[in-house]
This record gives sequence, C-alpha cells and structure tokens, in this order.
Amino acid sequence: MIIIMERNATEAQTQRVINVLKENEFEVRYNEGNVHTVIDALGDKTTLTPGRLAAFDGVKEVKIIREPFRLASRDRKEEDTVIEFSNGVKIGGNNKPVSIVGPCSVEEDFDGLMQVAQAAKEMGCEFLRGGAFKPRTSPYDFQGFGEQALKYLRKAADETGLLTVSEIMDASDLDMMCEYVDVLQIGARNTQNFKLLHAVGKCKKPVILKRGLASTIREFLLAAEHILYNGNPNVILCERGIRSFDSAFTRNVMDIASIPVIKKYSHLPIIIDPSHGTGQRYLIEPMAKAGLVVGADGVMMEVHHDPENALSDGKQSLPIPMFKEVMARLNTFNENLKNLKE
Ligand code: PEP
Ligand code: MN
Repeated sequence: MIIIMERNATEAQTQRVINVLKENEFEVRYNEGNVHTVIDALGDKTTLTPGRLAAFDGVKEVKIIREPFRLASRDRKEEDTVIEFSNGVKIGGNNKPVSIVGPCSVEEDFDGLMQVAQAAKEMGCEFLRGGAFKPRTSPYDFQGFGEQALKYLRKAADETGLLTVSEIMDASDLDMMCEYVDVLQIGARNTQNFKLLHAVGKCKKPVILKRGLASTIREFLLAAEHILYNGNPNVILCERGIRSFDSAFTRNVMDIASIPVIKKYSHLPIIIDPSHGTGQRYLIEPMAKAGLVVGADGVMMEVHHDPENALSDGKQSLPIPMFKEVMARLNTFNENLKNLKE
C-alpha cells in the first residue's frame, strides 16, 4: 500500500508510521517530496490494515495497490472458474452461455409454471427459476408462496429435465431449500447481508449472487469474497442493474461495462439479468444480446404464462409466445458469436 502523509506532517509522525510498519514486518521505502512524504509499504495487510493506518496522526491517505478480493481475483487464479452440474450443464469458461428462465414468483397455479418449464425446455434453456421467498419493498405486496413454491419448482423442473434456481432470504431456510434447489440465489437486497453470505459459503451449493442496488463493482466482488472465504467456490455473479437518477424509462441502469471489468479482474462466471436491469419486457432481448457480446456466461429472464396477472414483476416478464421468439433469436445469436470467436 501507499501512505501519503499530510503536507504539514511532522517528522515524528512520519517516523511513527514507518516504525509501526516495520514492527509488522512490512518492507518500507519512502520518498520525501517537496510537499508530501510518500511511504511505500509491502506486507501482509491482515496484520496492519489500511483502515488502522489511516487513523494515525499525520496520515492524509492510504491507497491499496492489490485488490482486496483475494480469492475472487485473477491474481490468485488465472483460469476461468467453471461450475458443473450433475447433468453435465456447465457455467463459465468457454462453455455455451446458459439460460435461466421462469416467473419472478412461483404462484399457486402449477399448470402455469409447467407451461413455462415446457417452453424453457423446448427452447434449450438449462434452468427454471422462481421465487418462493420474495424480498418486497412493501409488506403489502406478495411475499412468496414459501416451501410449497419450492415443491412446485422442483416438480416442474424434474418433469422437464431442468435445474432449479430460487432465492434464499434467511440462513435458517438453508437446509430446507437445499432439498429443492440446484442453485441458491442471493438477491440484490441481500448482497451485503454478511451472515447470509457466510451461511451459503459454508455449504457447497452453487450460488447466484446478484449485484446490490447500490453496490460498486469492488463491493460486489467483496460480497462474493465472503462466500469464497467461507469455503464455497461455486459463485456465479449476476449483473442486474444499479439504481441511478433516471427511472423514467428503465427501472435500473444496466451496467453492461461491469461484465468485461469483472471478467478482467475475476475468474468467477457472470450472468446478466435484463428483466430486473431494465424493468421492461421490450428491453430484455437487446440487453441480453449486449451482455452476451461483452462476455456474459448466461442470461436470466423472467417469463410468465400470464404476465398481466402475475403477482410480481409482470411488466418485465416475457409471455410464453414472446419468450419463444426471443429465445430462438438468442440461440442463433449465441451460435453466431461462437463462430465469430473461432
Ligand atoms: C428476482 O430475481 O426476482 C429478484 C428479486 O431480483 P433482484 O434481487 O435482482 O431484485
Ligand atoms: Mn423479479
């Protein structure tokens, strides 16, 4: 790290910083500039954190050089992480981008869910998604159908040969949820729920970690780091848009650039969710394509058998006929992209 001393820092203050660095076995070099003294320190930041050093009198700023997300970083692991499922489906690396589709919430109408699952299978998708525990802004909105929803999701997926994804909101549901789902989702509102991150870190189930509503890319990767640090290497990141000032036409701002940025700095797979990213069904296809062009390892899309009567997120859900058209074009698009890369 680099420690920049204040313009008027005393020699004693600078010496004290140098001494404490040396006591903690840092290799120290420093430069007395005309205005600021700059200390260059190489060592283990877990023994002496940048935050602690910043609190020393006379210190103006402490800059880190290596990214703090060690396990998620390409410095640690150069090759892409590939997550493989029991049926041979793979996410990440040079594998075909996966498709994760289904309603925002699993509802009481099992038949409707089956129609979505059948369409998903027919169009070559790999995963059926659907919320059972919904993080809703208002307590008056539909909160999810609970364990019954997971039973429906599993049944529809088993009957069609798909894998399942559903969101976990509380660590106490972990064992129960693991019986029904192949991938646990951590939603945008829980990206920094550290106890939940630790809990899913302690099991080996793959996790889709969504980007928080206001997470920076570094915070997003540090959230993934919590899962990796607790022992679960199977993390799939999901860019789902971030909050900004303009919500007149789109629900969120789809940060397409985060995908190649994350690919550059991390080995973890990343998928794009244009349903939540835009809030608009007509934007799902163009944004999915944009994500695929910049390297996304998959697309998550909300699909409902009757969006007008959906209990949540109908506006950003594709009705089945439209989904089939969009998916057919995305399949061709993926083929063309693959040929372009070869
Ligand atoms: C969802 O996937 O239905 C969901 C609630 O997503 P997010 O956490 O990204 O808002
Ligand atoms: Mn939703």
